[in-house]
Amino acid sequence: MFAPESPAPSSATGLTGKAGVLIYEEGYLLRQNVAVPLSDDFSPSATELLLNNATFVSEFGDVGLALAPLLHLAIVACMDSRMDIFQMLGLRHGDAHIIRNAGGVVTDDVVRSLVVSQRLLNTQEIILIHHTDCGLQKISEEGFKDEIEQDCGTRPHWIVEAFNDPFDAVRESMKRLRNNSFVKYKKNIRGFVYDVETGKLLEV
Ligand code: ZN
Repeated sequence: MFAPESPAPSSATGLTGKAGVLIYEEGYLLRQNVAVPLSDDFSPSATELLLNNATFVSEFGDVGLALAPLLHLAIVACMDSRMDIFQMLGLRHGDAHIIRNAGGVVTDDVVRSLVVSQRLLNTQEIILIHHTDCGLQKISEEGFKDEIEQDCGTRPHWIVEAFNDPFDAVRESMKRLRNNSFVKYKKNIRGFVYDVETGKLLEV
């Protein structure tokens, strides 16, 4: 469908204005590692990504997987785009629930997901994965809220969960799990910091 020719100019895809310009080649979206400052000429990727999905569908092999995770495992991780949770742990589709948010912090909504995971879908083990170089290390709780309030006119009622040390942040999240009466299975909880420069998981 898409000729595997030399990379089309980014203007041909309309995907300029972001770091890593997306281009088509052999039916897949590839990206040139070009740092392009985010600016007003940003354009969304969804339409082009649907073409990747068409290729995915044509090769789809996950038919018949069970709804409940095979390893009875739930993982709570930061949303960081450099972390592929399945890949870093050698997981297969259907093995585990992956619950992600900014920081991988145990918030009320993470507890909500864990309660569904444990009580409805039989998971009994929890792994926490935070990481080095997290965005939440680069802001302060009040400073970030000040910025939002100046921009929106309203101060967020929620906690940003900014932190300095990812190991301390994992300890805090583990403590929240252990102290939360809604979390049914607490016997198997382990926490890790993923080193984004080496791929290594460091246990807390
Ligand atoms: Zn992060």
